[in-house]
Amino acid sequence: MSERLLNFVYCAWRESKAERYLEVANPATAEVLATVPLTPADEVDEAARLALAAFPEWRRTPAPTRIQYLFKLKQLMEEHFEELARSVVLENGKNLADARGEMRRAIENVETACGIPTMMMGDFSEDVARGIDEYMIRQPVGVAALICPFNFPGMIPFWYLPYALACGNTVIVKPSERCPLTMQKVFRLLEQIDLPPGVVNLVNGGAETVNALLDHPAISAVTFVGSTAVARHIYGRASANGKRVQAQGGAKNPVIILPDADPALTTRIVTDSAFGNAGQRCLAASLAIAVAGAEKTFLPALAEAASNLVVGNGLDPAVQMGPVITPQSKARIEGLIQQGLDEGAAMVLDGRNARISGLEQGYFLKPTIISDIPRDGVIHRTELFGPVLGVLRVATVDEAIQLVNSGDYGNMACVFTSSGSAARKFRYEADAGNIGINIGVAAPMAFYPFSGWRGSFFGALHAQGKHAVEFFTQTKVVVERWLSEWSRTF
Ligand code: NAD
Repeated sequence: MSERLLNFVYCAWRESKAERYLEVANPATAEVLATVPLTPADEVDEAARLALAAFPEWRRTPAPTRIQYLFKLKQLMEEHFEELARSVVLENGKNLADARGEMRRAIENVETACGIPTMMMGDFSEDVARGIDEYMIRQPVGVAALICPFNFPGMIPFWYLPYALACGNTVIVKPSERCPLTMQKVFRLLEQIDLPPGVVNLVNGGAETVNALLDHPAISAVTFVGSTAVARHIYGRASANGKRVQAQGGAKNPVIILPDADPALTTRIVTDSAFGNAGQRCLAASLAIAVAGAEKTFLPALAEAASNLVVGNGLDPAVQMGPVITPQSKARIEGLIQQGLDEGAAMVLDGRNARISGLEQGYFLKPTIISDIPRDGVIHRTELFGPVLGVLRVATVDEAIQLVNSGDYGNMACVFTSSGSAARKFRYEADAGNIGINIGVAAPMAFYPFSGWRGSFFGALHAQGKHAVEFFTQTKVVVERWLSEWSRTF
């Protein structure tokens, strides 16, 4: 029988009494790796109450002491780096290089959060009126719930976890029920750094578990990363319950290619952006907008590069692209491709019906490129979240920017050009929060906010860096006067 995953609450591993457990499969082989509980509301309640009970003492622990735990965590994550990366590959299917990159960014967030004693500092103004001083301090908000997606199971919890802890909050992590294994390993490491009981907790589950977190009065802050429909739900429900919320949603990322773009660099980078992690990155290029005939050079080059990608089990170091996450996801993507073709789009490279020798049970699609996609058709507007690149042609940069800005999402937009003025115009006018200039995956470093806009984001403060510090603290302003013999002389 496969391993039953546990929750981690108040420093103890607990088996959930959930009525339902879901199977977690390796998407490259369909082998069942474990089963994950759909934790019910009464167990969420217990975790939330224990996290709240741990808050007062953790909050009083000085910030320079709190970050000592993060230094230990960073060290342990370095020591277990390969094990964590392999776990990401096993449950998610991405290749080892991508999994290592993911865990590196997770560690970078721990490193950045070690600067909390400085990042949390307040402001002080002397003599705002005669003998009166005013200052602002940052205090933690309480218990934070982190609701995470399947596509970066090792990294996305770290967009929040180290900042929330270092700022003095206690935390409940809810991983994706499709990829919950890496957080089990991370929590084995968290167990070793001897945080006080209740400061970090892990609760597995699905929609019911999430809704119990959104409704729980002990929880003050909710972060979410996932699809836009669910982001909207999370934002609405948690806000209505009086919590502070940030919800990062889905994406449909355009890359504009100008005729003066460097052919080799552009081809290599756009291919990686569209097909890396089987297109299951929220920063995957899914629309290529070719300007002024650029498709004549770039479409054949992209098709050739994409058709040469080695598809297979991500644990094989030669593999460049793995499977999609589930058979349902594969069927959904194939259905949307067909719908696009029925609408009149033209198939350039067809990755459906992929057969990978020795991995016949895996959920594979090969890279797919579709050109002449109708404006406002399914390939243009829908997030496919698979290895599919749709191609559109326009005459001018203005038209390309208009097309970018007419989309529903605003997670990322990129331009490939050797013209500084075209790049500046694009950077200035593009309605997206993460911009790439001759970059295909414009993923902000840990010390910059992960800045989705429009349909890709609900809230005000984003993940990572200073935004995370602001999100996980509330400001308190003090206006202060002291009467004394000395001050009366003023
Ligand atoms: P998802 O929305 O299906 O699930 C995300 C989380 O929400 C999971 O923990 C899941 O248990 C929970 N959930 C699912 N349905 C729910 C419901 N009805 N009620 C309450 N909770 C629910 O997302 P996913 O498929 O795991 O991840 C892929 C999506 O995430 C893509 O749309 C991708 O673009 C997006 N994403 C966005 C970013 C970003 O920074 N904007 C980053 C990574 C992924």
